[in-house]
Amino acid sequence: MIWPEANIGFSSPLRVHGEALENWFFVFFADSIVVRRDASSNFRAIGDAELKALAVDEEGRFFMGMQGSTACYAVNLSTEPDQEMSTLRDLFGSISVDLFNLAGRALQTLDWDRTHRFCGKCGGQMRVSESDRSSRCDTCQLSFYARISPSIIVLVHHDRKVLLARNHRFPIGLFSTLAGFVEPGESVEGTLSREVREEVGVEISDFRYCCSQPWPFPNSLMLGFQARYNGGEIRLQEEEIAEAAWFDIEALPVIPGKHAISRWLIDDYLRQQGVWLS
Ligand SMILES: [Zn+2]
Repeated sequence: MIWPEANIGFSSPLRVHGEALENWFFVFFADSIVVRRDASSNFRAIGDAELKALAVDEEGRFFMGMQGSTACYAVNLSTEPDQEMSTLRDLFGSISVDLFNLAGRALQTLDWDRTHRFCGKCGGQMRVSESDRSSRCDTCQLSFYARISPSIIVLVHHDRKVLLARNHRFPIGLFSTLAGFVEPGESVEGTLSREVREEVGVEISDFRYCCSQPWPFPNSLMLGFQARYNGGEIRLQEEEIAEAAWFDIEALPVIPGKHAISRWLIDDYLRQQGVWLS
């Protein structure tokens, strides 16, 4: 399989169950995470003794779930520690997909807490629920759940060619699959047709769901599809797309790295077409 298997070792109850043999802390100040490195110099979460040694004030701590017998926590610091720090975005690609997703869950949980201190309806004080992942208003009882925004990302293909585009935000020469957010009241199928038509002006059919990737900047869940080209000439949505073209699968441009869902979609199509992948 091109994309990672589901992380079946992770369970996400609201309280620690069984006996935690170890604790992992994903410790953030604002959007940056405290970095510890293993013997191979790769990022790892920090343990109990290391957290104590930081000697900094915690503004909030959330239990995220169990990875096997390890309890995982997100911790928000109120002051910046004198430690190696990194944004999570900068760690993407250099840590495993499972570890990135766990750290992303921590970042999203802390961000949700920071932005839901007061009720959006009445301005009352919010209290974190003990029974689910929500906050509840003390005054009007309204609940706010951790926010997840579904989006689609799609590889459009046609006769051993793939339709790739360069967003204005990408470096020159880097091409990727098409993507966009699901609108309120819209089906995922509707988003696929609309986004591809809006961004490059072509029609698609035969959607095939492949895989997903959480993208915690700030709260996207990317749903990955492949789709068959079904007519139309490329016509760019110029505010968003700098260039787009059909590429023969034997002559692809620079594409995203092995940790990115767009790459998984492209590599899977190449494998379906019998292209050998290194
Ligand atoms: Zn309220």
